[in-house]
Amino acid sequence: MREQRYLSFLVIIYFLLFLPATSIRAQEVEHEREFDYALKSEKGPRMWGKLKKEWDACNKGEMQSPIDLSNERVRIIRKPEKRNYKLCNATVKNRGHDISLQWHGDAGSVLINGTEYPLQQAHWHSPSEHTVNGRRYAMEMHMVHLNENATNKIAVIGVLYKFGKPDKFLSKLIRNISSMIDKKDEVKNAGMINPREIKIGSRKYYRYLGSLTVPPCTEGVIWSIKKKVRTISRDQVKLLREAVHDYAASNARPMQPLNKRPVYLMAPGATV
Ligand SMILES: [Zn+2]
Repeated sequence: MREQRYLSFLVIIYFLLFLPATSIRAQEVEHEREFDYALKSEKGPRMWGKLKKEWDACNKGEMQSPIDLSNERVRIIRKPEKRNYKLCNATVKNRGHDISLQWHGDAGSVLINGTEYPLQQAHWHSPSEHTVNGRRYAMEMHMVHLNENATNKIAVIGVLYKFGKPDKFLSKLIRNISSMIDKKDEVKNAGMINPREIKIGSRKYYRYLGSLTVPPCTEGVIWSIKKKVRTISRDQVKLLREAVHDYAASNARPMQPLNKRPVYLMAPGATV
């Protein structure tokens, strides 16, 4: 009798203690997912602009990214691009919708039309967001630069990858990324990393004015997509996909209308 009472006491304690915790945790998980990439989802790319007022541009903007970079529509310009990156302490962060490498301090900058844009972070999308002549690649890396005082505050350098040999820079981060699979907001110190080690390839690149490809889809972003397509291994793509949450395993925003924006091919000093 006494044992029975003790047992029901334990059962009551269990429900009091653990049930509320479970439901709070469920809410947190729901809350974490601000947007996703499933086309038919109520938080999918077509709905982003309706989820928050500040995300208006995702649906109403007229210079959104990504776009298709077609050879037919590019205008060729000879202009050098100057990058001056520095060794700087960095961390790897699982942002839920992607894996991001963030520099803390002065990691150097890129010079665009006389304006310096300091490097903030890099992250990966799979498959690629931009396409070239309609072709979508295995992966796209974005190096995000920010200058709060400039008219166009954000400048992103994009690099496209097809399947092939592993990317050496990403190989360095494998241990950190493997340790944060499906763990949103997990941060790991990556030590001192020189952004110069990111192999970008040729000096030719596509240039156009677009937007961030995630909410709030801010416009006025200066895009530079490198023409040279680099390689990444299937295992590396698989790892980056596993590391993010299920709703972002494929984290490429669908193509956006060009709306008569000019796209340039910058080819400093060389014949295209
Ligand atoms: Zn991006």
